[in-house]
Amino acid sequence: MTEELHDEYQVCYKHPDRKTLLRCNKCGKPICPECAVQTPTGYRCKDCIKSQQKVFDTAEGKDYIIGAAIAAVLGFLGAFLFQMITFLPAYITALIISVACGRLICAAVRAAVNKRRSSNLTKTVAAAAGAGALLGVLQNIIVNINIMSWGATGFELGCLIQIIIDIAYIVILCGTILAEMSGMVFRR
Ligand SMILES: [Zn+2]
Ligand SMILES: [Zn+2]
Repeated sequence: MTEELHDEYQVCYKHPDRKTLLRCNKCGKPICPECAVQTPTGYRCKDCIKSQQKVFDTAEGKDYIIGAAIAAVLGFLGAFLFQMITFLPAYITALIISVACGRLICAAVRAAVNKRRSSNLTKTVAAAAGAGALLGVLQNIIVNINIMSWGATGFELGCLIQIIIDIAYIVILCGTILAEMSGMVFRR
């Protein structure tokens, strides 16, 4: 009985003087409470945590510049296209083009940075795309604000709806990019 209990205890792989029952749930090495890092899936050793972060964050300095440039240009062009298409109701065009443009940006950035990734790169790309798109719809927003400020009765609601659709376009675009690129990180 005492022998069985003794077998359950092992020594921490970093601290041979410490007996422990804890094990890293990834590599299975025995770890003492000080070496254990709590994750949503259980305790892990510091080495596993480190290598995990390295796998997830592979983006290099230049990737941020390339990613931001691609996202800003395509974001602007997408928003420009969205304004050009008038044969469909604006809210439908906004939905279709923002999602399509967001996916296109993700695919283009992924290819350009050789599939390297990091959560900061995802945020940078989403922000740059949003800025590009904002530039693309800015004139429309300003025109509509101007019309509203003239007090042209009967146009206020239409102008307000146009502004809301423009802003929704940007929000959906950024959301699509965040979902696509972070999904890529978790999917492995
Ligand atoms: Zn481990
Ligand atoms: Zn330890």
